[in-house]
Amino acid sequence: MRATAEFHPGATQLENEAGRFVGATSGSRQSTKRGGTAEVDACRFRPHNNFNHKLEVTGQSDRCFFLRGTMKAELQAIQAEALAALKSVETLDALESLRITYFGRKGKLTDVMKGMGTLSKEERPEIGRLANEVRATLTQAFEAATEALHHQQQEHQLEAEAVDITLPGRKPAYGKAHPVMQTLERIEAIFRQMGFEAVTGPEVETEYYNFDALNTPADHPARDLHDTFYLTDGHLLRTHNSPVQIRAMESQSPPVRIIVPGKCYRVDYDVSHTPMFHQVEGLLVDKHATFSELKGILTSFARQMFGDQTQMRFRPHFFPFTEPSAEMDISCAVCQGDGCRSCGGTGWVEILGAGAVDPAVFEAVNYDPDEVTGFAFGMGVERIANLQFHIPDIRTLYENDLRFLRQF
Ligand SMILES: [Zn+2]
Repeated sequence: MRATAEFHPGATQLENEAGRFVGATSGSRQSTKRGGTAEVDACRFRPHNNFNHKLEVTGQSDRCFFLRGTMKAELQAIQAEALAALKSVETLDALESLRITYFGRKGKLTDVMKGMGTLSKEERPEIGRLANEVRATLTQAFEAATEALHHQQQEHQLEAEAVDITLPGRKPAYGKAHPVMQTLERIEAIFRQMGFEAVTGPEVETEYYNFDALNTPADHPARDLHDTFYLTDGHLLRTHNSPVQIRAMESQSPPVRIIVPGKCYRVDYDVSHTPMFHQVEGLLVDKHATFSELKGILTSFARQMFGDQTQMRFRPHFFPFTEPSAEMDISCAVCQGDGCRSCGGTGWVEILGAGAVDPAVFEAVNYDPDEVTGFAFGMGVERIANLQFHIPDIRTLYENDLRFLRQF
């Protein structure tokens, strides 16, 4: 098959007789020097030195043309192709793989640059300049695309993480003191103000401190197994806070002015008892501590706790470690003393027990009963909390139902 290819000086395209583009020349080497029309049997491009193609023409005279134009066209094609591809890149990953396609170790542009070595000295400057331009253009385009994608990604992120600042805020859940603790703190504050120091002691006690030293002999019913939690080693869970009074008196000389807030334990469980409960015990020992002083302090406490209108009364009672002893009632806060269900119709509710310290207790701690007198009192904190908050069943305090506890 014969083919005609036309060569013109300065021609940039080489066409066969069907007008089909078969190559491009910039019209410098052999082909253009000759000019005119050459009859060829066949012509084909063969890759040579990467992108420097060789045009082989067979026919009138077998010649080979090195077409510098193919490299130029290749560079221009790479640029156009890369710029077009950049437009459709949507992710940074895709951009990176596109960058590798052109700039990678085996990338298209890299290949062309490698082919520079095969160019002649005359050709090198022109093609070199073009290659540098293409590289600069593409580098710039890739940088711009990278920046644009980064920006876009940031925008998307901001959009995704957008917060509607017009929504009402969520209130953080916060805790607060349990009603029993609130009451305990209030009781402590009132007595501190009257000069009492709060002291604490062990909840696991010996029988000596819990009973013997408090004038409660071994045959006393309070020491019954049914009333007290005993441990296997002879210790017990203290049944009241009074042992701390003994420990305090053992460790200091009179005068003593303390309160003992804390937990104690008894085998009880009904509307007004729980196996664990809180007490505040008080002790005042001095040379001239009198029962009227006791009454004055407790009256002041009750009025601060329950209000100025609160009425008080003492009823004789018995405690092993005080003599004389009394229970103190206050006027019912619900009915103001008229009588209601809360107070059993009496108008009074009991809040604490008190008395003058028994001389036997002083002897147990080596205080001289002829030198000092004293008084002690003790109250159940849950009982005070129930009166303060009008809680009918003491057990609800420890059921931990938040609907209940949040009311206080
Ligand atoms: Zn009442």
